[in-house]
Amino acid sequence: MIVVLKENSNPAQLENLLQWLKNMNLEVHKTEGIHQTILSLVGDTTELDIDLIRALDIVDEVKRIQEPFKCVSRKSHPKDTVIKVNGIAIGGKDFQLIAGPCSVESEEQICSIAQSVKEAGATMLRGGAFKPRTSPYSFQGMRAEGIQLLLKAKQLTGLPIVTEIMAISQLPLFEEVDVIQVGARNMQNFEMLKELGRLRKPILLKRGMSNTLQELLLSAEYILDGGNEEVILCERGIRTFESYTRNTLDLSAVPALKALSHLPVIVDPSHSTGKASLVPPMSLAAAAAGADGLLIEVHHDPQHALCDGQQALTLNEFRSLAKRVQGIVSYLQNEPTGEAHV
Ligand code: PEP
Ligand code: MN
Repeated sequence: MIVVLKENSNPAQLENLLQWLKNMNLEVHKTEGIHQTILSLVGDTTELDIDLIRALDIVDEVKRIQEPFKCVSRKSHPKDTVIKVNGIAIGGKDFQLIAGPCSVESEEQICSIAQSVKEAGATMLRGGAFKPRTSPYSFQGMRAEGIQLLLKAKQLTGLPIVTEIMAISQLPLFEEVDVIQVGARNMQNFEMLKELGRLRKPILLKRGMSNTLQELLLSAEYILDGGNEEVILCERGIRTFESYTRNTLDLSAVPALKALSHLPVIVDPSHSTGKASLVPPMSLAAAAAGADGLLIEVHHDPQHALCDGQQALTLNEFRSLAKRVQGIVSYLQNEPTGEAHV
């Protein structure tokens, strides 16, 4: 970290700052220029409050050189993290299709969709039991019963299940869930992230709709710092001025996150676009951009879905998309460099 001091800074205040930095076990190199003095801080600055330093009277500017995260950083862990979910690998060279309805609606619905998506090539089943809805009058999900139905679908198909947690108090219900999803609205629910850090279970962490990549990585850092190293990052679109699509899919997030972090990165083209017609092209683009998987909403009868029918693929559409995605994934996996990701 570099701290640029104001001209003629008060010596007593500077001494205080130097002492404080020393107490934080940081080495400080002072460079005095004609007009300005620069302090170069050497050591672990992740715990330093950059805004506090910036607010000091004697400080003109502060620049972070080191990333503010450690555990999730590729620097601390150069190899891709590969997470095993019931023997299914996510990350590295493997690519997984996670598919299913926005919400679990009935036993028949979730079981028949699970069988169909499995036949089409999905390797995990998604389905919301606890639903974060903008309106309190919208369908709120089948809650605990929804999780039981997902477990039935898992028993039937063998597909591991991915479902969203909305509050820490729901955690006991998630014991048999294979992957716990933290939705966009809870990405910065730090108390929940800490609690999930105590588990030894994969967490699918979605990017908040107004959050930067750094904020997403810092949220993942909460989980890894707690000891749970199995985090899958998910780009699901962010809010911009564009209103044609539900959100704006930030595909550059995929290579950017993979450069910054060793964690697997998947893309949700359903919530990013909000339109079924845009899901196939964006899925192909996400695979080409190096994503480790896709999270796609699929419904046997989208027009009558209780939630997000407008963005759900039909079973036929999913079947055809799965084949095309596989084509791109195989191409990348067989590139002469042997690298799945550019
Ligand atoms: C979902 O995947 O069901 C969901 C609610 O997504 P998001 O948190 O990205 O809005
Ligand atoms: Mn949805």
